[in-house]
Amino acid sequence: MIRIGIPRALLYYQYYPMWRTFFEELGAEVVVSPPTTQVMLSSGSSRVVADTCLPVKVFLGHVLCLIGECDYIFIPAIRSVKRKVYNCSKFLGLPDMTKAVIPESPPILDIDIDINKGKRNLYRAIYQLGRHLTWNPFKVRQASIAAWQAHLNYQQLMSSHRLTLPQAIEIVSGTPEAESKTPSSNPVQGTIALVGHPYLLYDEHTSYRLIHWLEQAHYQVLTPEMLTKDELESATARLVGRDHWTYEGEVVGAGEYYLESGVDGIIGIMTFGCGPDSLMMDIVRRQAAKLRTTAFMSLTLEEHTAETGVVTRLEAFLDMIYRRKKRQVEVCM
Ligand code: SF4
Repeated sequence: MIRIGIPRALLYYQYYPMWRTFFEELGAEVVVSPPTTQVMLSSGSSRVVADTCLPVKVFLGHVLCLIGECDYIFIPAIRSVKRKVYNCSKFLGLPDMTKAVIPESPPILDIDIDINKGKRNLYRAIYQLGRHLTWNPFKVRQASIAAWQAHLNYQQLMSSHRLTLPQAIEIVSGTPEAESKTPSSNPVQGTIALVGHPYLLYDEHTSYRLIHWLEQAHYQVLTPEMLTKDELESATARLVGRDHWTYEGEVVGAGEYYLESGVDGIIGIMTFGCGPDSLMMDIVRRQAAKLRTTAFMSLTLEEHTAETGVVTRLEAFLDMIYRRKKRQVEVCM
């Protein structure tokens, strides 16, 4: 059986159930790289120039980890999934960059996704991808229909049950991803919304287990995936008119939505070296400063970020929220 490797990084979190369904329907076995470690990050970092963004370094570390574990590695180039809205340049060149910096990588299965080129082009690209596993176009069609349905179910599961991506992946694929949670008997202290891309929020090495840390501090954590596509798109439209970047909803849309919804605090997660996020997060920060209703903090992560520094900032942020809420109660009394 042909084994297809999928790096547990970048768009894995958004699309894994869809990709896995597609390849399994065509008779392949899917192998996912293990969770990120410092060794993986260092090995990925060693292949690129220092100012490459952290998630790409992590991604390359995962590719290196899959060498010898699979026959092919799946690395799509997702250019655009919405008309006239384009992805960050790192995603556009991901298969080519990987080939260039990891020449020893197993053969790369790539596919160009660009909705602006029309449906015909998209179907042709999907068929060319499937042809590595079967010559039967009907089988490829069936596999792509099943894959799309798996993706819709996955999105619906997250927004209707307020699940994080790892929790939803665990449910739809039976892969242990999220830490099993035992309900806490302590009262919830408040609600914190995290805004940022899933590959930052859910990579526990990169994010220093931020979600777990907040839950341990008895805060309810909300993330962008807990909102529907419509909620994210309309919130983005209210703040900036129309989106300019793919996945802008994860930052601008989620930021605006949660600012309006009355959560106790919002933490924006971004990474050093990211052009799109530095612009998008600044829009959310300015909106938070204008509304003055919700505490906002942005955390910029990079490979030399110290965990103690992150924890100190989080403690100060939660302390500020606590004092703010206490003041509000005193004013009302
Ligand atoms: S959006 Fe930013 S963090 Fe994500 S791949 Fe592009 S540059 Fe890197």
